[in-house]
Amino acid sequence: MRDFSTDHSALALNTASLGHNLDGHGAGWSPERVIDACAARGFGSVVFWRREIGSRAVEIGERARATGLSVAGLCRTPFLVGTDAVDEAAVLDEAKASIDMAAGLGAAVLTIVVGGVHPDTKGTTESLKIVTDRVAALAPYAAERNVKLALEPLNPVYAGNRSCLTTVRDAVDICEAVDAPNLGVAVDVYHVWWDSGLDAQLQRAGKDRIFGYHLCDWLADTRDVLLDRGMMGDGVADLRAIRAGVEGAGYAGPCEVEIFSANNWWKRDPGEVLDVMIERFHSLC
Ligand code: ZN
Repeated sequence: MRDFSTDHSALALNTASLGHNLDGHGAGWSPERVIDACAARGFGSVVFWRREIGSRAVEIGERARATGLSVAGLCRTPFLVGTDAVDEAAVLDEAKASIDMAAGLGAAVLTIVVGGVHPDTKGTTESLKIVTDRVAALAPYAAERNVKLALEPLNPVYAGNRSCLTTVRDAVDICEAVDAPNLGVAVDVYHVWWDSGLDAQLQRAGKDRIFGYHLCDWLADTRDVLLDRGMMGDGVADLRAIRAGVEGAGYAGPCEVEIFSANNWWKRDPGEVLDVMIERFHSLC
């Protein structure tokens, strides 16, 4: 395992951790201010959300790289399945636009959050088939633009309305079915910490299919499954064991802190939040 005790060059900020990717939250820092704050602290990379980028993908990507940061990713595609994704042509068009944005930004990876259960179906089997077909349709378009696509399984609490894809196992199944070299998996502590079969699936994914590793913590008494994520060390996820599994499978990329926390971290000064991330990254991750 990599030694992060004095080195945070692998640390990436997911800008959602500062709150401003949801209306009415966060300190409202511009992408430029976030970039400068991360660069000044020695972060290795940053991950943006589409709403921050707008039509400025090339400009923001160049600005980040000029400070020495890389752009590790872009969040995210529209939902590919579920009640808001019934019109296949419209879904694929919007997803292609998100791929174009990732390419303009120079983002290494575009995250896919697949969406919930498809209307008029029950369970996840049919929905996952639709996801597989739509990802297969998008992968060549992304490959032509040098964009990797990372399927991010979400915690099963979201299976109904945000992600019928809930396990690394199912994500690797889709990767195997689509069989595109630019399709892989993003592993987020918040979504996988409970999974006793995780290590075997990470091994199955291997280094060529793990495209991202996301850090936060699961608070034992979480009050809101969407907006009450914990800072690393404040919850019950075994962070070192999960990273051992990810790195044991061959992953050596960024460790991206992604914390949705409407009533705690999003209320603090963003500079303080970044400082705490670095300290926890050195000591606990
Ligand atoms: Zn994530």
